Amino acid sequence: MRKPKVTVIGSINMDMVTTTSKVPNQGETILGETFQTAFGGKGANQAVAAARLGADVAMIGRVGDDPFGQLLLNGLEKEGVRIDSVEPVTDESSGVATILLSEGDNRIIVTPGANQHVDSAYIESFRKLIVQSDVVVIQLEIPLQSVDYTVKICSEEGVPVILNPAPAQTLPIETYKRASYLTPNESEYNELFTTVHEELKQKLIVTQGANGVQWFQGDERKRVPGHIASVVDTTGAGDTFNGALAVALARKESLEEAITFANAAAALSVQAFGAQTGMPSNEQVKTFLT
Ligand code: ADP
Repeated sequence: MRKPKVTVIGSINMDMVTTTSKVPNQGETILGETFQTAFGGKGANQAVAAARLGADVAMIGRVGDDPFGQLLLNGLEKEGVRIDSVEPVTDESSGVATILLSEGDNRIIVTPGANQHVDSAYIESFRKLIVQSDVVVIQLEIPLQSVDYTVKICSEEGVPVILNPAPAQTLPIETYKRASYLTPNESEYNELFTTVHEELKQKLIVTQGANGVQWFQGDERKRVPGHIASVVDTTGAGDTFNGALAVALARKESLEEAITFANAAAALSVQAFGAQTGMPSNEQVKTFLT
């Protein structure tokens, strides 16, 4: 059987996580406790989630011409993600997230770097790849015009597109209308969609953390409850959900089946540290659901 084709368009970041007992004041230097790097960026996370679940995944994104860029490319390739459409940007840094973890409190600086170069012309150069996809997934860590542009291509070409509006930023209503599915988490939903709910009701799939997922079918409110999980780290739960939803829809599952599958994949992913570490395989999700 041919593998379903999923194309993910979005950010690729190196997360740099320092744990510390206190955070420095301006002008102060302190000693941290531990340091770890982890592959991240919503785009890359969703691509890895979809690849682990058995899709033929292509990533459209950019890295810098620095050592992180090479590591990020290798990381994606090792997961089986196609990287022909990830071109390094000359004289630019890779996207990085500098994360200070102090007593359960996060302070994060995201520097987009090469992700800012995922512009409309770059996306246009991969139109053929987009058109040949069963499902396209996109998030908001690249320029917003590129998101509008991609969703427009997909709607013109009849390719289903999942728009994951994270981190929350407002897009033109036309973009929301052109998207096939909108997948905010609860706080993104509250920030972006309460006033336009009725218009977009049939596209909205709202993830609710441990409470599962809600959506509408006609006028009927549908819900799949969350699974009881032994939570280690919920970073990347939404990314696993979106990657998994894309795979299941690309396999032509019904919306309810696809959401059920994605809800289970996301529940499995929170049981390990880091965004990508806990992302399950297709077999693990199927076993979990039986
Ligand atoms: P985000 O990670 O984007 O903030 P959510 O917190 O809504 O998004 O999580 C996305 C999905 O991940 C949920 O709909 C659910 O399927 C799963 N999930 C998240 N947290 C938990 C949890 N504590 N227990 C079980 N499933 C969870």
